[in-house]
Amino acid sequence: MTLKGNHYVWMAPQPEDIGATPIEFLHRLPGPCWLVLPGRDRSRSRVMATLLHGNEPSGLMAIHRCILAGIQPAVDIHVFLGSVIAARTEPLFSQRFLSGHRDLNRCFRPPFNDSEGVIAQHMLDYLTALQPECLIDIHNTSGSGPEFSVAPFDNALHRSLAQLFTHRMIVTELRLGALMEIATPKFAALTVECGGANEHSSHEIAYEGVVRYLTRSDVLSDASSTTIFEVFDEPLRFELEDGTALQYGEGPIDDADITIPANIENYNFGDFHRHQILAWLERSAFEKITVKDLYGNEVRDNYFEQRDGCLFVKQSLRLFMATTRADIALSDCLFYFVTTDAISAQPGNGPGNGSGNGEVG
Ligand SMILES: [Zn+2]
Repeated sequence: MTLKGNHYVWMAPQPEDIGATPIEFLHRLPGPCWLVLPGRDRSRSRVMATLLHGNEPSGLMAIHRCILAGIQPAVDIHVFLGSVIAARTEPLFSQRFLSGHRDLNRCFRPPFNDSEGVIAQHMLDYLTALQPECLIDIHNTSGSGPEFSVAPFDNALHRSLAQLFTHRMIVTELRLGALMEIATPKFAALTVECGGANEHSSHEIAYEGVVRYLTRSDVLSDASSTTIFEVFDEPLRFELEDGTALQYGEGPIDDADITIPANIENYNFGDFHRHQILAWLERSAFEKITVKDLYGNEVRDNYFEQRDGCLFVKQSLRLFMATTRADIALSDCLFYFVTTDAISAQPGNGPGNGSGNGEVG
């Protein structure tokens, strides 16, 4: 292992070096680091990042399994493992980031003036020197639900990468300092959310997609898919004002401003219709709900209404990333949504099919 900048680089890790389990593997990592898996074609490279969040193990498990299986990549694969220290904090894989520190996946833009910023800056320096073909960043969601991808804009390169893992792609102009925001029209950088961190199916989806990413000679012009590809353009966030008393249950709960059905996660990527109860509301609780458009305008009343103490949608909505963790629902958002009629669904990508400028649906 060599030190490059402030990151260790582990060249060609062998099955016998990495431990029999992902947990042993985690304990053998020196901290934030790069693994380099030499490919058949040493003149090209791709990057895979994962464990930017310490509580999202599917990507680490996938790469561990690939190395154990002795899979030789088509081109050189550089794997960046970010929040190793947070992941290793007991109980293992429980901390998104270390308390008192910033979320590493919000640090890939200046200022780089704290410990996470420095990790991000060195990672970006490594990328600049490497000039890879593309980048994927493997995550898990905090709630359960199916897999999807997130891209900073929509084009054929991003769709090709997404189709290694999923037929769903969320396109968002939100800029938070996430790694994928380094994408350009010619350099695809895609976030993959493999589903819940504790679900076996998430680990399988990560593994199968990573194997494709490693072994295919071309991952940027996939014409083979015949599945319907769904693009969710500019989803909106269902947020709650600070201090809202939020509960989950089968009916209205005393002392709660808002009670959300306990099975809300079952609606992830499903449609929510006008007759279904989305929440039970205390008297003035409707005012605690906020939905902002890209320009910061309040647009809640365009999508939601209250009737008889219940919250309903005004038109069918597709929900995703719904969470039953009240802390996340309050500090981040309860779920994302788009209107069902705004989803652009189309046959799988072919060369030249993707629009180049994000104008989809
Ligand atoms: Zn994550």
